[in-house]
Amino acid sequence: MRYFKIIILAFFVERASSLWFFENIANSLGFRQKPQIEEKDENGTCTSEDTLEEWGYELNNGPDHWGGICKCGKKQSPINIVTTLTQPGNVDPITFSNYDAQCNITVLNNGDTVTFVGFDDCPNQPYISNGGLGSRYDLHAFHFHWGHTDLDGSEHTLDGRKYSLELHLLHIKHGLTFEEAIHQPDGLAVIAIWFSLWFDSAPMSTLMPAIELVSTAENQTATISNFQVSQLLPQDRNQFYRYEGSLTTPTCNEVVIWTVMKQVQSITFSQMNIIRRIHLGGENNENRGLFSRMLGLIRQPALIRSINPDIGIPGANHRPVQPLNGRTVFFHG
Ligand SMILES: [Zn+2]
Repeated sequence: MRYFKIIILAFFVERASSLWFFENIANSLGFRQKPQIEEKDENGTCTSEDTLEEWGYELNNGPDHWGGICKCGKKQSPINIVTTLTQPGNVDPITFSNYDAQCNITVLNNGDTVTFVGFDDCPNQPYISNGGLGSRYDLHAFHFHWGHTDLDGSEHTLDGRKYSLELHLLHIKHGLTFEEAIHQPDGLAVIAIWFSLWFDSAPMSTLMPAIELVSTAENQTATISNFQVSQLLPQDRNQFYRYEGSLTTPTCNEVVIWTVMKQVQSITFSQMNIIRRIHLGGENNENRGLFSRMLGLIRQPALIRSINPDIGIPGANHRPVQPLNGRTVFFHG
């Protein structure tokens, strides 16, 4: 009976993937209008102008279609961190200030992710300093990236390993607006934290009710009172990877000091399933709920590997890893 169920599910997965296969063919034959993107200006400079306006993670607007700096940049993110190639770093630990402050924040389903904002208005705005950052960076917002199955979802990978979820805590250099920061080489500092399936529900527990409230449609919002962002941080904050990179979404500006925490946080199966059911924007999303649920049911690596997670199936929001192009990744710890 068990094998019978697997065969039935495999049939549906095959059907679903062949639908996307035909969509791919339709694209290549020009049935869909592909956006024309000019990634260099008249001086040959790599520029963010003319980047696809309606970008997303689907076949017709996914990472392969992103233009501008996303296409011609040489310091793009995310990357695969190869532990044996990292250089030892020796900076002080990062100082997390006001991370225990209670802030009233808002969560928004913006169609690409769930983003948590409102820290700019918090009386004791959380900020980071030291840790080789060279300046104070104020917490502006945070959001998540995930995939169709437990086997993918993170943007950064570690020796090729993908995690189920990745948190980005977005900090702006003190005194700058976001608009100013995305035009300065060190304008932003993002702390990335990997989440892996485990039994500890605590790190994500406060966020889940609000996430559920915004999960059925784009532009939904909900509020969380007295939120302490420290609960999202791993216990060991002293071991981290550091490199210079970019925003992982258009316009992919190369202005980010990346800190990827080594210690992985825990998220439970049921929390992860709630996140995967979030209705993101995009024309194909009506198929997504059923498809994600089917993939969630099948935990058969051989079957899942037969589907390329990066071909633009709606419902995932992670960019594939980008070339390192000679950049150094430091490990501090
Ligand atoms: Zn992000």
